[in-house]
Amino acid sequence: MQKLKILFNKNREWVESKTAKNPAYFQQMADAQDPQYLWIGCSDSRVPANEIVGLEPGELFVHRNVANLFPHTDFNCLSVLEYAVDLLKIQHVIVCGHYGCGGVKAAMEDHQLGLVDNWLRNIRDVYARFKEELDAIPDKKERYQRLIELNVMQQVLNVCHTTIVQGAWMRGQPLWIHGWVYDLATGMLKDLDCCVSSIDQVEHIYRIRLKG
Ligand SMILES: [Zn+2]
Repeated sequence: MQKLKILFNKNREWVESKTAKNPAYFQQMADAQDPQYLWIGCSDSRVPANEIVGLEPGELFVHRNVANLFPHTDFNCLSVLEYAVDLLKIQHVIVCGHYGCGGVKAAMEDHQLGLVDNWLRNIRDVYARFKEELDAIPDKKERYQRLIELNVMQQVLNVCHTTIVQGAWMRGQPLWIHGWVYDLATGMLKDLDCCVSSIDQVEHIYRIRLKG
């Protein structure tokens, strides 16, 4: 007996809807992918990357984890970024957080959750870095929303500090790193205006003189 029959039924319906419009849809998809964007987002089930920006399969390369983090030693993140930039030649990396992020909320509290607390330590680092600004916000919800934004901005910088991004810039490959926040309550995206597109925007200490 097939488990999760409902999902297989939905899959069949989806295949039929695609092939009704274009009978060669899946054959074309199987040939190659040519995405223009890399999306680094939260695993939250309410933030479906492709749907939010109205893109079809094949148009968005996606990496998701709890609280859309990009730790500089995470080989999963680094491998995705390297493949996207060096092989797929994508030109835009989008780090997208979301208001109401449970990961960021957990990082503001002192309850133990488990292994994930170590992962969320990255967000506590962001809090510590911007403690003065954050502690000056009296409303807890506003402080929470601001930490969500600051976390995105920090992850944008983390992406820019990699040898992968700096190598692309050195080769003259155009590459923009964007920071956005998605609002669960409205479905709207907000641009945090923290886009980085050249080594000149990176602090000196993080600049790497790469071997030609
Ligand atoms: Zn989240």
